[in-house]
Amino acid sequence: MNIIVCIKQVPSTSEVNIDEKTGSLIRSGIDAKMNPYDLFAIETALQIKQSREAKIIALTMGPPQAEEIIREAFMMGADEGYVLSDRRLAGADVLATAYALSQCVLKIGLPDLIICGKQTTDGDTAQVGPEIAEFLDIPHITNVFRIEDLNEQTMTVSADLPGTVETAAVSLPALISVEKDIYQPRLPSYRLKRSTGQKKVVFYRLDDLPDSDERHYGLAGSPTRVVRVFPPEKDQANEFWEGSPDELAKKLAQSLIDWKFVEEA
Ligand SMILES: Cc1cc2nc3c(=O)[nH]c(=O)nc-3n(C[C@H](O)[C@H](O)[C@H](O)COP(=O)(O)OP(=O)(O)OC[C@H]3O[C@@H](n4cnc5c(N)ncnc54)[C@H](O)[C@@H]3O)c2cc1C
Repeated sequence: MNIIVCIKQVPSTSEVNIDEKTGSLIRSGIDAKMNPYDLFAIETALQIKQSREAKIIALTMGPPQAEEIIREAFMMGADEGYVLSDRRLAGADVLATAYALSQCVLKIGLPDLIICGKQTTDGDTAQVGPEIAEFLDIPHITNVFRIEDLNEQTMTVSADLPGTVETAAVSLPALISVEKDIYQPRLPSYRLKRSTGQKKVVFYRLDDLPDSDERHYGLAGSPTRVVRVFPPEKDQANEFWEGSPDELAKKLAQSLIDWKFVEEA
């Protein structure tokens, strides 16, 4: 079974500036780390590999230094690693990101399973996984927190959806994006660090992809435009109440009625 795990390098700080012209993050000069949710995606692949023969391929799109997280994936147990890196991919919105990744998946070879994290800590849209699947025309299930069954043809998973848990079966190849409680990610291993230090990471550029038309990638291929980026306005009006617990409880109850959070009994 071949498994591609999509992983993304994200800023390791929230002190990140935004390019006012393009509305995208200025990533140069800031420390980066693996998107925390993607550790769960890698661990899911590793757990699958414990019970069957599998090859785990880590894939990222980003600047050349994104190789660091591929090496981290090697230290956890990934077998192969790919970085899709090209200046012409910069400024991609979700659609252009997912399209580029789906093209890279086709270049590597469509696997039996693609695993993504639930979302990232920078873009935070949780859309890339499902969109990759749509571009590849394969089924996908998001918010997966348990694998119930997996064989060569199908997989059955449980997903944590708002207010409900759904168990569904999909035929392979398929894509899942996983919740953080699916498995506890293992720590990178020092032994694997030593043994994979020389392992080759494959770099692809836009020209390597099946569709190398640069109009489909980066800013040019992104239908959305960031019009303005600004911190949300904070409503800082505070009211301090004093009194006995009994008085405060009555005041709170009356306020909840006045604010229409509850109805008067
Ligand atoms: C200031 C700002 C403005 C933005 N404006 C827009 C906008 O207007 N329109 C828009 O569509 N997007 C916008 N984005 C999102 C931005 O383009 C995303 O960072 C990018 O599309 C990836 O999506 P995401 O980070 O939300 O990933 P998510 O969908 O949250 O990630 C889910 C999973 O997909 C995989 N994944 C995501 N990215 C990669 C990658 N590069 N390589 C490998 N795997 C990956 C990982 O497994 C990840 O856990 C904006 C981001 C910022 C910071």
